[in-house]
Amino acid sequence: MPPPGLELDRKTLRAMAIAFVLLSAFTIHRLFFATPPGPAVDELVLSGDTMGTTWEVRIAGPGLDEALRARAQDVIETRLAEIDLWFSTWRPDSEVSRFNADRGSEPFDVSSPTAELVAFSIELCKWSGGAFDITVAPLVARWGFGHGAQVGAPPSEAEIEDYLDHTGAEIIHVGRGNPTRGGFLLKADPEVEIDLSAIAPGYAADHVAGGLYELEREDFLVEIGGELYAAGHRSDGKPWRVAIEEPFEDLRKIRQIVELSDQGLATSGDYRAFYVEDGERISHTIDPRTGRPIANGMASATVVAPTATQADGFATALMVLGPEQGLALAEQWKLGAMTLRRTADGGFEEARNGLYPEPITPEEPARP
Ligand code: ADP
Ligand code: MG
Repeated sequence: MPPPGLELDRKTLRAMAIAFVLLSAFTIHRLFFATPPGPAVDELVLSGDTMGTTWEVRIAGPGLDEALRARAQDVIETRLAEIDLWFSTWRPDSEVSRFNADRGSEPFDVSSPTAELVAFSIELCKWSGGAFDITVAPLVARWGFGHGAQVGAPPSEAEIEDYLDHTGAEIIHVGRGNPTRGGFLLKADPEVEIDLSAIAPGYAADHVAGGLYELEREDFLVEIGGELYAAGHRSDGKPWRVAIEEPFEDLRKIRQIVELSDQGLATSGDYRAFYVEDGERISHTIDPRTGRPIANGMASATVVAPTATQADGFATALMVLGPEQGLALAEQWKLGAMTLRRTADGGFEEARNGLYPEPITPEEPARP
């Protein structure tokens, strides 16, 4: 019989041998069978309609189960309903519609988000030399777009002058209040009306993103009417990839793909909403400096920014400013931007600033 000490050593040795075999098997299994997953198939995809357009949310990361789907759906719908109640120009009970209908000169109580978004819009109006201007609302309708769109002959020069007397960022004052009590808006001119359509979808993407962060998700992509916010990474650990379309009105074709991570991206374009009068394209983007639809040949402007709100607002400003001034403004604010201008031969002239992500050009589809 071996001494007790040796018996113990043998037991230990056997246990160590078993542990070694198990560990090796585990390591080999990890090496050969647990290689990183392939394409980003591990995503929860949710979608719906909002603000007269569509939304889509992709969530990556762990725990993509039905319980998460239900919670995410709930958060997204709640937040989109808030957006509608704050900014919609189509529903008369929204904060913006009630402020527009108000002809008084007393402070008008609004939620903090409305005060914040109007305050940012006023700043952007100043930064862009008046190219982005939410008080352009009555002119948008007069040129036949949006809620209350008018049909018939275009406005005369005198009529436009009259409208321009009631536009400009300096007419609106914002009291930011505090986050729980909200803020207020004040109009120095009772005629003034605001239209947040050029920035609300971007804000909505950020607002939905805020809800997903609250659910402790870190990797997701929110898209609302083409304006996006990309958080973190896809399930395969790579940045989110988003496609920018060619600015054709009748054909959907991918022009380029860019990678985003913790960034917003927005594209403004005259190719979805425009009409033709005497062969001329009438854009829904109004140049607030002339009171007329833009006539600078701009087909689209894409901006990449830390938030989708910024990207959306700046993209509209760039449509008005055109490539040279527009790209310089974006550069000044450290934002990536790309513009496409129509050329005489029916093509597009592309311009980008140095901060725009290097695009991945999609491969031509294989010919049959
Ligand atoms: P899209 O992404 O669909 O091209 P934008 O974000 O450029 O749209 O917003 C266009 C809308 O913004 C118009 O339909 C109008 O309601 C409003 N708008 C038009 N011109 C301006 C402007 N210069 N500044 C701010 N808002 C504008
Ligand atoms: Mg915009």
